[in-house]
Amino acid sequence: MTDRPRSAPMPAALRQGRPPRHPALAVRCPHCSATPDMRCTTRAGRARVQRLDPCPARLAAHAIATAVCTTCQVTPGTPCHDDGIQRPDSSPVHNRRYEEAQETAA
Ligand SMILES: [Zn+2]
Ligand SMILES: [Zn+2]
Repeated sequence: MTDRPRSAPMPAALRQGRPPRHPALAVRCPHCSATPDMRCTTRAGRARVQRLDPCPARLAAHAIATAVCTTCQVTPGTPCHDDGIQRPDSSPVHNRRYEEAQETAA
């Protein structure tokens, strides 16, 4: 009579994947030209350094491409406006639209 050891279950720790990808990485960055799925970069000296967060312009591009704006009522693909007037480059998207984009991606 032999006592066979039971096979151990797979440790859950093995399933730890990569850190979650920022949803804005789905679009190309209009600021630093990072392609989809590529991290944004910044130039430090002559080297290209990967940014931790996407460029603000990329966040805006992602929000415009994927989310409706509940503030100015535009559909995905249409930039935000204030009563028909284009928003300034420094703040091209209404704040609520960034949140919509995050929820759409989740
Ligand atoms: Zn960028
Ligand atoms: Zn808007």
